[in-house]
Amino acid sequence: MIAAPACPTVAVAGSSDRFPVRRIFCVGRNYAEHTREMGGDPNAEPPFFFTKPADAVVDSGAAIPYPAATEDLHHEAELVVALGAGGAFLSQDAALALVWGYAAGNDLTRRDLQAAAKAARRPWDMSKGFDHSAVLGALRQGSAVPQGRIRCLVDGVVTQDADLAEMIWPVAGIIAHLSQFVELKAGDLIFTGTPAGVGPIGRGQLCEVQIDGLAPATVRVG
Ligand code: MN
Repeated sequence: MIAAPACPTVAVAGSSDRFPVRRIFCVGRNYAEHTREMGGDPNAEPPFFFTKPADAVVDSGAAIPYPAATEDLHHEAELVVALGAGGAFLSQDAALALVWGYAAGNDLTRRDLQAAAKAARRPWDMSKGFDHSAVLGALRQGSAVPQGRIRCLVDGVVTQDADLAEMIWPVAGIIAHLSQFVELKAGDLIFTGTPAGVGPIGRGQLCEVQIDGLAPATVRVG
């Protein structure tokens, strides 16, 4: 018998407990300015979903190797929702009741591979769902949606700076919409999309995502 793989987990703020990760869903294009910078029309396209493998999670403070097969690794600062319960075909009111907590996250992206995939109308998996591609700060327990600034800094220089209120789809709407496609379960994480200002992280650089009221998500890329 081959031993069952360990369940990936993420840190919980103020606790030695770890949150077990089941699946990782991500929203594409949830801030109007970022949609425009990627060549889209925020009024014409509803947000859509892609995924990362659960074992792509990386604890804040880790050092990761510069990913293979890219010369354009990008940061994407995002609010991440962790679900403590599941359901399908949810209303927005029912959706928020599923939330276990929130974290700051970094949706690391091989931007060159993503551009090539878009041009060839191929899937995004290898541009988004690679090893160490989901950096997460410690989860803060509680269903109240965080408010305030979301920022990204590369070696201390601010590259993304927005307000969570600028999200096109709020947290409840994202969960309710996603639940029309899949039955959500406890342990699912949802990256809620990134504001404008995405850009490269070079070899040796430190990238930090900050969200008001949450622990930062920091990663050093080797
Ligand atoms: Mn993203």
